[in-house]
Amino acid sequence: MDKYNTEKSKALFFETKKYLVDGVSSSFHKAKNEEYPICMTHGKGSHMYDVDGNDYIDYVAGFGPMILGYAPESVNEAVKEQLKKGSQFSTPTEDLCKLAKKLTEIIPCAEMVSFQSSGTEANMHAWRVARAHTGKMKIVKFEGQYHGWADEQKVTIGADTLEELGPKSSINKLMNTAGQRIDTTNDIIVAPWNDAESLEAILDAHDDIAAVLMEPYMCDEGPILPKEGYLQAVKDMCEKHGVLLIFDEVITGFRLSLGGAQQYFGVTPDLAIFGKAIAGGFSLSMICGRRELMEKVHPSGTFNATPIAVAASLATIAELEKPGTYERMDTLGKKLTAGLMELGKKHGIKVYANHHNAICQLQLGIDRAPEDFRDCLQNVDRKAYDKLFLLATQYGVRLTSARGRIYISTAHTESDIDKTLEIFDFIFPMLK
Ligand code: PLP
Repeated sequence: MDKYNTEKSKALFFETKKYLVDGVSSSFHKAKNEEYPICMTHGKGSHMYDVDGNDYIDYVAGFGPMILGYAPESVNEAVKEQLKKGSQFSTPTEDLCKLAKKLTEIIPCAEMVSFQSSGTEANMHAWRVARAHTGKMKIVKFEGQYHGWADEQKVTIGADTLEELGPKSSINKLMNTAGQRIDTTNDIIVAPWNDAESLEAILDAHDDIAAVLMEPYMCDEGPILPKEGYLQAVKDMCEKHGVLLIFDEVITGFRLSLGGAQQYFGVTPDLAIFGKAIAGGFSLSMICGRRELMEKVHPSGTFNATPIAVAASLATIAELEKPGTYERMDTLGKKLTAGLMELGKKHGIKVYANHHNAICQLQLGIDRAPEDFRDCLQNVDRKAYDKLFLLATQYGVRLTSARGRIYISTAHTESDIDKTLEIFDFIFPMLK
């Protein structure tokens, strides 16, 4: 198997870097351990093609949105039709009504919805709604969980060591970027996730908490599944303490199921935030929840729910609603993750992989599901994953950088999975 030549990507990246900060448009677009990111020309279905003419099997999905694969026909057609009519009106439309109604039908907690353009904005809006409704200011968020790049959201989104994180009972409020306002930590309480007792202690100790905010399946680190009964226990505690429960479903929304993790796990929050996959590659996010909460605050935003994004979202939902869609993605995920576990055994490498509809995970250095973020920090071999990420790119498989998430789309095929496993069979020995 030959290593890809990516010299044109390298040259293009360093040229771009002269004019664009970091040479990329988001810090996620270049992995910390890669000298330069691969520059793409186009994508089709489950494949991406770079400026050097290399073909990659893709599991990044544009960091989540491309649940139908790249350049999906039906979404492109819907968008082209809408482009003829106009891309931005700043008025309600028939399709806007149709989409809002549809979302309330498919998402358990959604009595009403409110649109934004990114997951960051939708999170900001949800926090505001929670504060407006309760009259309280504090938000409980969880170590290792990412909710966007605004000041408050970036408190303790990650740590590299347990020492950095601090003890469970008083987790360090870690800042994440230069220029972040220090007082943004004042109204944030950081808790360990998947630990009902610690949360109970926090809720008992504070009477000024507006909401508990969590990714119900922790995908941004790990990924880590909720323990049996954990989500329901959190919901019950929140109800008891008069605190709102918000699910950040920016990743899980439309991926675990159309109705998100709340539908998949059967626990309905007060509010939820969806983004990424809901418009098949176009900028659209939303918060949804109970009517009495949603009506408290009115959103602003020039580009909220443009007719283009609305058309793309309706077309995406129509595709995902086709019978057997999730079962098919789950079957492909099963084949991929079972194959990865087998390869781990074959090459004497500890591997844990599992699949849940359009989200799979792959951990190295561990052969069981990680329990929480601390378990990941202690036991998951992140360095090995970083190396795998680089090797996979060099031989034609695109993985998300350093986080173990693997996105399946409706465009993946059995032969993609076979080819991926063949490539991993070749590169696994290089991990040792
Ligand atoms: N919430 C979660 C769980 C995310 O993973 C992300 C982005 O990766 C966000 C919020 C922020 O979304 P966006 O990047 O669209 O602002």
